[in-house]
Amino acid sequence: MIKMKIKIIGSGNMWTAYNSASYLIDNEILVDMPNGTCKNLFKIGVDPREVNYVLLTHFHGDHYFDIPFYFLLKSKANNTEVNIYCSKEGKRKNKLLLKLAFPNPAQEVLDTIKPTYNFKNNFTIKDYTVTKYLVDHGRMKPAYGYIFATENIKVGFTGDTTICKNVEYMASVCNYLFCDCTLIKGDKKHMGIDMIITLNKKYPDCKFIVSHLDDSTRKELEKGNIKNIIISEDNYTFNILK
Ligand SMILES: [Zn+2]
Ligand SMILES: [Zn+2]
Repeated sequence: MIKMKIKIIGSGNMWTAYNSASYLIDNEILVDMPNGTCKNLFKIGVDPREVNYVLLTHFHGDHYFDIPFYFLLKSKANNTEVNIYCSKEGKRKNKLLLKLAFPNPAQEVLDTIKPTYNFKNNFTIKDYTVTKYLVDHGRMKPAYGYIFATENIKVGFTGDTTICKNVEYMASVCNYLFCDCTLIKGDKKHMGIDMIITLNKKYPDCKFIVSHLDDSTRKELEKGNIKNIIISEDNYTFNILK
């Protein structure tokens, strides 16, 4: 049977020894590219040159600061295909970051890879129909989550967000939801265990894979076995049957 393979590249927030939240789908689609992503992929035997699609949730450094290394690497590879999905300011921000990181080859790198940008709310990647949802990450606007749909399976990624209408919607339709659970008690920017428990009660058919975890949150989660809540770990692979 065909599977959707999701590898958790990072499950922690920035201030932990865990990698920052990021997910690799079928070895060629990345959701977020935090600082350290290329190195983290090399360490587990995944070649970042094989990544052709990058979806960015928002423009905080711990979600896109490895873009310059990825662009430079792709410009030297045989496979130079780069497709970026994000909000409109992404094109300018990624270019600026590349210029800061590698001032001399920056333009040559862009001329070689010619990254394709897609700012739409609905698009297709391989077998997946992907939909982008506005979420609520406090002052950081816009911030997005994504749902990948294929055949009878829906898998969502909330990105950084507090609980909001679209996160509820995602929980109501998804079989699996990879979600921000930075805190023990959620605030205006991030969800916490309390909010995930609320979602879990309301949407029992959804499996919540909590991520972007602070160490204190991970410790708290590890105390109790909460049904349908899965604690994410770096380099853990989910094989989802379609
Ligand atoms: Zn953020
Ligand atoms: Zn973050």
